[in-house]
Amino acid sequence: MAWRVNEICPQCGATVTLEETDHLLSCPYCGVRHAVCAPSMPGYILVHRTGAGQVFYLPYLRFKGTVYACGADNIFSRVVDLSIRTIPLAGAPLSLGLRVQGTPMAFAPETPPGVYLDCTPDIKGILERAFKTAPGEQPVKAFYRAVIGEVISIIYLPLLLERETLKDGVSGKELGRIKDGPGFFEPWLKKESPCPPRLVATICPNCGWDLEGEGISTVFVCTRCMKGWEIDLSGLKQTVCRFVPCSGNSAMFLPFWRMEVHISVPGIQDEELRRMGTSVVWCPAFKIRPDVFLYLAGRLTASGRDFSTEEGMENACTFPVTLAGKEALESVKLIVYKCSQRKSSLAPLLSIINVVSSKMELFYLPFDTSGYELVCQCLPLTINKKALFFSRSL
Ligand SMILES: [Zn+2]
Ligand SMILES: [Zn+2]
Repeated sequence: MAWRVNEICPQCGATVTLEETDHLLSCPYCGVRHAVCAPSMPGYILVHRTGAGQVFYLPYLRFKGTVYACGADNIFSRVVDLSIRTIPLAGAPLSLGLRVQGTPMAFAPETPPGVYLDCTPDIKGILERAFKTAPGEQPVKAFYRAVIGEVISIIYLPLLLERETLKDGVSGKELGRIKDGPGFFEPWLKKESPCPPRLVATICPNCGWDLEGEGISTVFVCTRCMKGWEIDLSGLKQTVCRFVPCSGNSAMFLPFWRMEVHISVPGIQDEELRRMGTSVVWCPAFKIRPDVFLYLAGRLTASGRDFSTEEGMENACTFPVTLAGKEALESVKLIVYKCSQRKSSLAPLLSIINVVSSKMELFYLPFDTSGYELVCQCLPLTINKKALFFSRSL
């Protein structure tokens, strides 16, 4: 379920259409580029047709991400993409389904031509449901669960209320009759408008040069001072980027997070964890199918390799960063578990393990193309090109 969002260029006022996965507003009219720093739970409205009646915005919780569960000796995972109605309004659709694909959307404005209804998102309930409906084998007992790379947003479906008749503001379909009129919505009236995204010019905060990066990337790079800038809730946050030199012509540099973390369990003497102490854990810095994510993270972490690096690489073809550093840190326990030789004794400790990160850097590793795969030049690591292609829409 992918969608498009209309946003106004802050420079010239033109309407620019963004893909759902875009973090860059690049105006085709005035050429100005802005990073879109969305709040932690952004709000969007489906644009309604003109029609008589008062407009009420009915909230749907949209969750997209990968859920993982660690059983006694294995990891179960699933990509989840759901939109669920959060107010029990009979007649209104339970889920938005495909309607978000064909309908123009916009970031929820602070002063909309209608009234927002409030919702209390039950994210835990959604995840519970996602695990229950996961196909295939289920772990008898999940010792630890994690959600990685999730995007949680609220999508408002406009409803039109004319006297007692309630209509779907997008399809025009009649949903039913509301005896009390507008008073019916009283218990759900929202006090504040949703928080709009911040638009930040993609100019290097360090040297003023234009930052480079694809629209789906959450990290932009300054090719003059070679600093990386990650999109944060509040703006651009500096991140260290390193390139592992390639032999000959590398087809593509793929980004990985290298995390120095301290792992401990309060009050428990566990030999394997004690040995880990301060460890280096790696994971892909791009969203990709969960089995591939764990394979890459596990291989790289278990290899114990460290690389000599260079600060920049001229004309390097790089793959965009789509997994935030914060999300990478949340995957540390999964990766430690993936690499462990004694999963059954580690599993019960997972939920109480402390992970403290002391250093986080972005490493670009060189890959060569070989048939259907990309092969790393530094260690035995392959990625299917199709899996990488589809990772762009996750
Ligand atoms: Zn413009
Ligand atoms: Zn710079």
